[in-house]
Amino acid sequence: MTAAPQPLRIALDFVNAWLFDLDGSFILVDSGLSMHRERLDAALRAAGCEPGRLALHILTHPDSDHAGNSAWLREAWGAKVAIHEKDAPALASGIMPRRRAIGSLSWIVGLSQLVPRKPGLGCTADILLEDGQSLEAWGLDAKVYHLPGHTPGSIGILTAPGDKVAGDFIAGDLVANWHRPGPGLLASDLEAYRASLDRARALVPADGWVYPGHGAPFPASGLAGIKL
Ligand SMILES: [Zn+2]
Repeated sequence: MTAAPQPLRIALDFVNAWLFDLDGSFILVDSGLSMHRERLDAALRAAGCEPGRLALHILTHPDSDHAGNSAWLREAWGAKVAIHEKDAPALASGIMPRRRAIGSLSWIVGLSQLVPRKPGLGCTADILLEDGQSLEAWGLDAKVYHLPGHTPGSIGILTAPGDKVAGDFIAGDLVANWHRPGPGLLASDLEAYRASLDRARALVPADGWVYPGHGAPFPASGLAGIKL
C-alpha cells in the first residue's frame, strides 16, 4: 500500500467535503448541502472523479450540511455509502434528533433546534463503519475512529503517516474552524464529546494536520486549546 495522499478540500460555502485520489479510484468524505450539488459535481470531475470511479462515500455524520448529496452520489454515481451504525437511522430518515447548542454561536444554533423537523432526503447506508476499521480495502491507508458527542455515531478518519505527511485527521464536526479551532455547534452528549476530544488529541500526531467539517485545515497543536 502506497502512503495515503493528502485529502483535497472541496469547500462548499461554509462546509467541507474531502476527496482522496487513489490512483483513479476515489473516496469522498461528506457531500455538502443539496444546493451544492452542481458545485460538488464540477469539483469531482475537475479532480478526475467521474461516475463509477467513486468507490466509497463516507459520512462523518448525517447532518444535512454534510449528507445533502449522499443519496444522489449513491444513485447517480454508484458510490457505496458508509457511516457508523449509530448514525445510520438518522441518515436513512433524514431527520436529526434535537441536540444541545454549544460554543460561541449557541444562541443562533439553539433557535435552529426549535424549527419543526421535516423528513429530509434520506439515504440508505451500504456499509456500517466500526471503531478502528481500516480503509485499506478501498486503497486508503487510514483508520476510522468512533468519536461520539456531536452525534451518537460521529467518526473521524486518520491517515497513516507517510514520507511527506505526518498523519491527516478528518474530524467531521468534532471540531470546527470558524475563526479559530473550536467545538462543533451541537452536542448530542457533552460527556462523550469531551472524551472524544481527548481521544483525538491523543490520536493525532503532534506534527499532523486536522481537517474540520467547517473552515480551513489547522495543525494538530490547535486541538489543545479547544474547550467545551
Ligand atoms: Zn456541520
